[in-house]
Amino acid sequence: MQVKLAKPQGPCAGVDQAIEVVDLALKVYGSPVYVYGWIVHNRHAIEPLAQKGAVFVEEIKHIPRGAKVVLRAHGVAPTVWDEAREKYLDILDATCPLVLKVHLEVKRWARDDYTIIYIAHEGHPEEIGVTGEAPDHVVVVGSVEEAERVVVSNPLKVAYVTQTTLSVDETKEIIQTLKKRFPPIIGPQTSDICYATQYRQDAVKNLAKVSDIIYIVGSQERSSNTNRLFEVAVSCGVPTYFIEDANGLNKDQLKDKNVIGVSSGASTPERILQAVVDKLREFGADDIEELQGIDEDITFASPALKRLRKEAERKRK
Ligand code: SF4
Repeated sequence: MQVKLAKPQGPCAGVDQAIEVVDLALKVYGSPVYVYGWIVHNRHAIEPLAQKGAVFVEEIKHIPRGAKVVLRAHGVAPTVWDEAREKYLDILDATCPLVLKVHLEVKRWARDDYTIIYIAHEGHPEEIGVTGEAPDHVVVVGSVEEAERVVVSNPLKVAYVTQTTLSVDETKEIIQTLKKRFPPIIGPQTSDICYATQYRQDAVKNLAKVSDIIYIVGSQERSSNTNRLFEVAVSCGVPTYFIEDANGLNKDQLKDKNVIGVSSGASTPERILQAVVDKLREFGADDIEELQGIDEDITFASPALKRLRKEAERKRK
């Protein structure tokens, strides 16, 4: 039995950065360090941070005045910044720069009085943060059907942006629909769907060509990009299972299967993927191979991370 690993898969630059911010903040300042929301959408990524003293809260009101707070990788609305400043919190912003790009686009077009059609999943933290930049200008659209129905005040002044972790193919269709309905519509110069989402979806399409069965590893409940990987694999016609970790593997599913494909979401820690591979070995896999794919060498270092690295360095001396 062979195991084929999609390439790339697993943690992206935005997730690595966010986790390093919390980790370093704990090392430099000690616990507690408060974290607004799930820093990334995988409990296996956040549990070790909680064990080290990170305190995860869903509302700023639960944080004591003057404490240190890390803002989640998915970004937050300006109202959250306001609340945090009112409590004199020391803010360490771990928002992924590719999410910040979308915030800036929305701010710019709202200033120019455009209606901004935001292609996104309503209720996702990234959507809440981006919409919060200009609630009176943003309309959220989540499907082609909604794009066909959306109403704007001035069809000559319409822009679109997208959530970073959507299905590339589905988003293309939605944008085409919007372009048909509003020919003067403007959009971002480069896609808002981030490199990590795009590359991982392409890698799953390649994986599907050689696999008899696919496992997608990550949080079904929370992770948008992992859910999209699952949908891509299913759309390729390969039997696909969503598992949170190695405990989700089921030997019965592997009967008569020669090639098992595995991919994982951008918020899934590498050790969780490794544990899945180890269990597949126990089930009889004797040939583990990473497929050819893109080498990712992208890293991010936000101002918060640079500050923490400097402080950690100073402490070491
Ligand atoms: S999935 Fe994309 S947008 Fe989200 S944290 Fe990773 S790089 Fe940033």
